Amino acid sequence: MILPIVTYGDPVLRHKGESIAPDYEGLTQLIEDMLETMRQEQGIGLAAPQIGRALQLAVVDISASEDRSSRMFLGDQAVDYREKMPLILMNPQVKLLNEPVTELEGCLSFPEVFGKVPRPEAIEVSARQPDGSLLQCRCHGLLSRVVQHETDHLNGILFIDRMVRDEKHKLLTEYREARERSASS
Ligand SMILES: [Zn+2]
Repeated sequence: MILPIVTYGDPVLRHKGESIAPDYEGLTQLIEDMLETMRQEQGIGLAAPQIGRALQLAVVDISASEDRSSRMFLGDQAVDYREKMPLILMNPQVKLLNEPVTELEGCLSFPEVFGKVPRPEAIEVSARQPDGSLLQCRCHGLLSRVVQHETDHLNGILFIDRMVRDEKHKLLTEYREARERSASS
């Protein structure tokens, strides 16, 4: 089922998500619906607060992206990240590993606008899986960026919070204009 996406201004986007266990009622369906919604919207990540649920749950799938910067390691072993998609992240913990790089980023909760966001290029992430196991991996490039973006959502942090002031101002102006256009059409 496709779920409505919550946009900027809704207070749920500022809530810290509650931690979620593998026996959470309706988890399988919720994950399925989030994946379906993300794909419908042509997103590469979706966090539960974006569908109005303040939970520590996010999905990521970058396999359709043209971006070639992503790499994934399990321990010291490089793995094909495409085979690991979609990633399901429950209660993710992210450790930043290097200096920020600035890239253009979008968010399904800010339709039609993009802004430059500095983020470390590499992270270590550990996240509970729906089967109860723990995923622990190192991510680089776009994959690292998406996991950081989605994990931020679970803590009530939005990409505008990571932007330099002028970039944030520019994006919010464009966002308001886009909303006014869509409201009047
Ligand atoms: Zn987002």
